[in-house]
Amino acid sequence: MELQLYNTMSRVKEVFKPVHPPKVGLYTCGPTVYNYAHIGNLRTYIFSDILKRVLTYNGYEVNHVMNITDVGHLTGDRDMGEDKMESGARKEGKSAWEIAEYYTQAFKKDIVQLNIQEPTIWCKATETISEQIALIQTLEAKGYTYPTSDGIYFDTSKFKDYTKLSHQDLEALQEGARVEKNPEKRNATDFALWKFSPRDVRRQMEWESPWGIGFPGWHIECSAMSMKYLGDMLDIHCGGTDHVDVHHTNEIAQSEAATGKPFFNYWMHGAFLIIAGGKKMAKSEGNFLTLERTVADNAIDPLAYRFAAFQTHYRKPMEFSKDAIIAAQNGMQHLRNQARTLMDSAQPTRVDPEYQEKFMQAVNNDLNMPQALAVVQDMLKSELPAPIKLATLFDYDQVMGLNLKDAGAGQALPADIQALADARIKARKEKQWALSDQLRDRIQALGFVVQDTPQGMKVFKP
Ligand code: AMP
Ligand code: ZN
Repeated sequence: MELQLYNTMSRVKEVFKPVHPPKVGLYTCGPTVYNYAHIGNLRTYIFSDILKRVLTYNGYEVNHVMNITDVGHLTGDRDMGEDKMESGARKEGKSAWEIAEYYTQAFKKDIVQLNIQEPTIWCKATETISEQIALIQTLEAKGYTYPTSDGIYFDTSKFKDYTKLSHQDLEALQEGARVEKNPEKRNATDFALWKFSPRDVRRQMEWESPWGIGFPGWHIECSAMSMKYLGDMLDIHCGGTDHVDVHHTNEIAQSEAATGKPFFNYWMHGAFLIIAGGKKMAKSEGNFLTLERTVADNAIDPLAYRFAAFQTHYRKPMEFSKDAIIAAQNGMQHLRNQARTLMDSAQPTRVDPEYQEKFMQAVNNDLNMPQALAVVQDMLKSELPAPIKLATLFDYDQVMGLNLKDAGAGQALPADIQALADARIKARKEKQWALSDQLRDRIQALGFVVQDTPQGMKVFKP
């Protein structure tokens, strides 16, 4: 069955065809490590994890590269402002290197909690400075660059089709961007490839280069690293939707100018996580929630956030609320209970081909997880024998990544207690608190303990 993916470049769903099947090169723009990732950032990484798992489910071998931006990401979008790493370090009284290491580890912990598979290759901007310098030298030799007093810039007017990804009106864009003035730039859309260290301040992160001591612009790292680690396997490049207009547009301009070849065939972008009132969750807004906070405040399992993300298609904004996350926790717990009930009575045998096909149709339709979840429930409600249901459910979990095989860990409950426990989960989901309390009392009266834990409700024999 064909895998169809929406390509931001063509603005349509396209049949996915990798350069060197069955291998697929996937590049995910990674975090800027001057602060914790927030659950909006993590939504984007859940999206790219589903993408990767769906590729694997389709039989592809994915070579997945993710960078860590540990230098040179300025607070202004167009090369103005402070370096986020250096200013973060100053605020916390640590070195920029310490800050980067600390938040890189925090990010890695988050993705483990969300069952996001690690990339095949992690790479850091600070470890590929020489490749970035080499790429800038190529651009310089081809006449795409010019110096200003603060750095080496890419001349976007020399690159035909600068807006082919963003589909923006270039003239309007030049006018609009003129507001934040850098009088030395030839065009408002030009961007820094290399920034010079200020003369009066000694930066913590700086390197020698043919143009003087300084540090790379933000965009050049992703071009250098994807070429270094993926070679010509430039299949899919993804990130959040805010990367379309500047970061990815600039990556394409500088890469294609340097190589003369198309830079990635498919561009995919996840929509934002928003909060009440439609505001985007952002590190710079200070309105953000970390995963740890979200888990603690709502007494949920971290995977409930993963499950919550499945309920909105990745190209639609997802609104975060306490109610939504509790509903997701209950929904996931219900699914785990269904898995456990099956495990109590059966061993998985073979995957049902028809239901596998239905699931695949959903995920291959541009990663339609809401549709896929509906297929999961249809399959569980079907007349299939338990061993086949269980095998099919485990097959689906290769994409969902909810660790359903572990749902059977611990004690199996008698069917009547399980039914009461399921009813209580439903009552809590529907906020029928009185009913939920009654059900708890009935379960306890039958000699079982009921505990509401961050991992969901636990029922066991004392
Ligand atoms: P950053 O660490 O700021 O470079 O962002 C990491 C990733 O999160 C990027 O792919 C961003 O596009 C994405 N991102 C930023 N804010 C949000 C948000 N509110 N919702 C979803 N993704 C986001
Ligand atoms: Zn990037």
